[in-house]
Amino acid sequence: MDLQGTSFIGAGRGSGGAGEYYAVNPVSGEEIDPAYLAEGEESVGAACKLAEEAFVDFRGRSGLERAEFLKAIADEIDAAEEEIVDRMTRETALPEARCRMEKGRTCGQLRLFADLLEEGSWVDARIDHADSGRSPVPKPDCRSMWRPMGPVLVFCASNFPLAYSVAGGDTASALASGCPVIVKAHGSHPGTAEIVATAVRKAVKTCGLHDGVFSVLFGSGRTIGQALVRNPAIKAVGFTGSRTGGRALMDAAAARPEPIPVWAEMSAINPVFILPGALRERGDAIAEGFVGSLTLGVGQFCTNPGLVILGGEGRSQFAERIASLAGNAAPAAMLHKGIAEAYHGGLERMTSKEGVETLAQVAVKEWSGEAGAAVLGTDATAFLSDQSMAEEMFGPATLMVSADEEASMLKVAESLEGQLTATVHATEEDLERFGSLISVLECKAGRLVYNGFPTGVEVCHGMVHGGPAPATSDGRSTSVGPRAITRFTRLVCWQDFPDHLLPPELQEDNPLKISRIVDGARS
Ligand code: NAP
Repeated sequence: MDLQGTSFIGAGRGSGGAGEYYAVNPVSGEEIDPAYLAEGEESVGAACKLAEEAFVDFRGRSGLERAEFLKAIADEIDAAEEEIVDRMTRETALPEARCRMEKGRTCGQLRLFADLLEEGSWVDARIDHADSGRSPVPKPDCRSMWRPMGPVLVFCASNFPLAYSVAGGDTASALASGCPVIVKAHGSHPGTAEIVATAVRKAVKTCGLHDGVFSVLFGSGRTIGQALVRNPAIKAVGFTGSRTGGRALMDAAAARPEPIPVWAEMSAINPVFILPGALRERGDAIAEGFVGSLTLGVGQFCTNPGLVILGGEGRSQFAERIASLAGNAAPAAMLHKGIAEAYHGGLERMTSKEGVETLAQVAVKEWSGEAGAAVLGTDATAFLSDQSMAEEMFGPATLMVSADEEASMLKVAESLEGQLTATVHATEEDLERFGSLISVLECKAGRLVYNGFPTGVEVCHGMVHGGPAPATSDGRSTSVGPRAITRFTRLVCWQDFPDHLLPPELQEDNPLKISRIVDGARS
């Protein structure tokens, strides 16, 4: 496929006007053709108008029709696999196997949402029948369910060029719920974005949907990203990236005359607590698993374990083992120059803090775009006295905190900000002694991992990839798995409506045969 380097504004293509940029190969530093034309505010207005028009039709489509659309997108992405892998490996430095795996995850995600729509019960239909004889006032007939909010703006993630980008989890959940989507492409992988966008546009056509149901804009976050958030047609935002970026979008959304939700997944250090019994019984196995998790994907996962809290005898031998394993891990290119610079800058800040020592740091050339694993060490007293030690170093770096007693481990747990995950390595005996640790961690993280590692987020019904702020902007949902669908919906109640004017999900004879709550009982 010949890439054009232009945005998708409904079925049309953008003509730029706000400069141009190229993808850059993170390994060679060379620019990759073609030039991408950055759009300005005019294109934002055009895409938003189209999305608003499309919503009138799209929200009336049945779950089965939307399921067909999601499956058609997955089929088109499958068909474009070779082109995607060729471009993605060059734009991101991610190995071929990872690109193929992420393609599979993306298509699997789309098909999982399609299954959810075909089953239909996700709308959480609730029916309370009227009681005209109730005294002192008659009871009305009330029926409610989740309905789509309107056009959703999705920011592509740099670290998931497929699974959290153009047709990734945010897009899949928004389209599944009946919301048109406008994507703000990430500047580091525009070619991958264009190939996937072409696949989605084909599916829009095959399924006979309104052109405005899907657009992708290339351009700067501070211009078109901000203008999109401010546009009154946009009703919600999905974002994965830095805390600064997420915070800026939250502020812009809150400052609108009609504020809108921003579902931002930002930074986390994903603490791993290793309790004394577990350390004694299987320290070596934990060390190996831990370093595998730390260095996976050059540490560029939001679930990367950036903090380890060690208790019990043998802490220093364990730290040495981790340092030795991490020190032998080969360095590799990061996703883009900005991420590599941020990693090295963060590492430098952390190693210069009083009380932090470097246990291992894999050297890389001055400017190579590469990152090597780093293991730093400190103790609980120093950690608790300097909050900045809990800042994310996005990449393969971790800080090991040695805690000599139960109380200081608990204090470290209590001091933490909201996290995506918290992991505990323990034995039954440990749990009897450290029971309150689990209870503290439940208030801190969206996912608790027992005797495992936080990387590798399964896409399944039971998954939660969220957590209290600042891990996310709003800890009440997840950005991975089917539960994500309700982020772009709102509850609507129909009171005393004639049956034929109700959505099928709420009609009396339950034509879709979905699970509902009727007069307080699940049926
Ligand atoms: P980013 O800088 O937050 O950018 C993500 C997207 O948001 C880009 O499309 C960017 O547009 C846009 N954006 C950023 N600031 C904005 C603002 N003030 N207004 C409007 N749009 C804005 O994230 P990144 O490029 O992926 O990586 C940078 C750093 O973020 C990394 O070094 C890492 O520290 C962190 N990160 C964390 C995670 C995680 O899951 N924890 C994931 C990825 C990145 P432009 O690029 O056009 O400005």
